[in-house]
Amino acid sequence: MINLVLFGPPGAGKGTQAENLISKYNLVHISTGDVFRKNIKESTELGLLAKSYMDKGDLVPDEVTISMLKDVVDNHPEAKGFIFDGFPRTTPQAEALEVFLASKDMKISAMLALVVDDEVLVNRLLLRGKDSGRADDADESIIRNRIKEYYNKTAILKDFYDAKGKYFGVEGVGSIEEISERLYKVIDTL
Ligand code: AMP
Repeated sequence: MINLVLFGPPGAGKGTQAENLISKYNLVHISTGDVFRKNIKESTELGLLAKSYMDKGDLVPDEVTISMLKDVVDNHPEAKGFIFDGFPRTTPQAEALEVFLASKDMKISAMLALVVDDEVLVNRLLLRGKDSGRADDADESIIRNRIKEYYNKTAILKDFYDAKGKYFGVEGVGSIEEISERLYKVIDTL
């Protein structure tokens, strides 16, 4: 079983690369951002709560996010493996994920990080905001807050997985195919 954490700042291309990885390795993709957006669309209680944080570019509280993630994993007992995209984003989330997976006799195989320069990220997200309709992609100050949240709370997870020999950084600039090939190369050595 391969369980991957896809890592990188907002706009690094995690969603795009996840699509290629899912089809190549037959994995279940869990994007916590997508699950929150679906809940917002359906006006669930979780969606209303998440929206108040997401609209500002802040992280949704750990307790809420962790419990949602566990539910999604539990709903896929048939999975051959998972790609966690946008999760974990904080140390408590990473620790909770370890404990939860261990309870199911599972573990993270690797964290694959897409490395992209900040200014490239802001430009990519502003461009995406023109088509995606995502409120958090339309405003430069919200985009910069999301990148700040990443450096304040999320970037530390590199050390968390590095200490376990599970961190792999991959250059996230180039064509989609080039970047996918770099990721496949790492996964095929696992
Ligand atoms: P994303 O689609 O991954 O860029 O996530 C969009 C927004 O959803 C983030 O800016 C957060 O507000 C929220 N979010 C997604 N995943 C998480 C997470 N693991 N922890 C907390 N908030 C999250």
